[in-house]
Amino acid sequence: MTTDYYGVLGVPKDASEEDIKKAYRKLAMKYHPDVATEENSVEKFKQIGEAYEVLSDPQKRSMYDRGGDPLGNGGASGFPGFGGGGFDFSTIVDAMFGGGMGTRGPRSRVARGQDRLERLSLPLVEAAFGVSRELAIDSLVLCAVCSGSGSADGAKPVTCRTCHGRGEVTQVQRSFIGDIRTSSPCPACRGYGTIIEHPCPDCYGEGRVRARRSITVNVPAGVTTGTRIRLESQGDVGTGGGPAGDLYIELAVSDHEVFVRHGDDLETTLEVPMVAAALGAELHVATLDAEWEGADPDDTAVTITVPAGTQTGARMVTRGKGVPRLRGRGRGDLAVTVMVVTPTGLDDEQRDLLTQLAVARGEDGPIRPTTAKGFFGRLKDAFS
Ligand SMILES: [Zn+2]
Ligand SMILES: [Zn+2]
Repeated sequence: MTTDYYGVLGVPKDASEEDIKKAYRKLAMKYHPDVATEENSVEKFKQIGEAYEVLSDPQKRSMYDRGGDPLGNGGASGFPGFGGGGFDFSTIVDAMFGGGMGTRGPRSRVARGQDRLERLSLPLVEAAFGVSRELAIDSLVLCAVCSGSGSADGAKPVTCRTCHGRGEVTQVQRSFIGDIRTSSPCPACRGYGTIIEHPCPDCYGEGRVRARRSITVNVPAGVTTGTRIRLESQGDVGTGGGPAGDLYIELAVSDHEVFVRHGDDLETTLEVPMVAAALGAELHVATLDAEWEGADPDDTAVTITVPAGTQTGARMVTRGKGVPRLRGRGRGDLAVTVMVVTPTGLDDEQRDLLTQLAVARGEDGPIRPTTAKGFFGRLKDAFS
């Protein structure tokens, strides 16, 4: 069961953010375990924290208003700050326990760089068989002038005179529950605790600059749209000459005019003349290999036997002529779907021949079509 958070803070359901904040401040002061004398003050203090955590966050509040439990297991996940306003909850705790919370010390000038994401578009044939590509990458590289130190004359950064190397400054305010101390990053050194007296003119003390460089990407066989290739330490160099992040190349494979890819399988549709479909025939189908090897398509064709009486929608599968598998050995399959083509533009002789055929098959009278269930079923199978 979720608690009545509005009741805990003693505010109405339509209370403003400001009212909620005020109510919380008042109660948090009253029930803080170190000043409260009431029984159950610890439990009460915890409830107040939970109520404020939910009601001060518009998303959690709206979830709670709709009957949800934004804290999941009903437990508190620490006490929220007031955010802005110059009065942070941690300052109460600092006042009670003499600091210790949120003490971070100076931050390092040397940090790891960011990962980068680049996109690369490939034709199907290169995605299938693999390719090596040169890419121009804009990224942050080590500053060659200062070798990453950020200092123009090679001098080491000096201790900040404002914060004496602590990286943060503290203001103390008197209040009825004790001194309230507020810490913030030192404005003089931006929290580093040190100052570069003569910054490098090329990188302004960052130790890194933006540059375009060329890198080689080896794309393995069998990749597909969405495949990411990770190039370790090829991302942005960090500040102060810190280690570089990684570079990810996300691939997009463009459509092919003949083959449609489904996983590692290739699909294509071929038109077969009506007579060939009726009598049976052998089809020579060029595979993707021909395009890859730049070879004569006849040399890299597979032969597919179309049996006599083949209908539109018939599907023939040749094993191992699809796309090589990215992980593991072997290749997918090549599937060919037949479309039977009715002849057009008949001359007199051809019309006579077809009429003779119709007579011989008893198909020259009135036609009573039957529902072509089998036909649509095959078409559906072929294109699903
Ligand atoms: Zn520099
Ligand atoms: Zn400082």
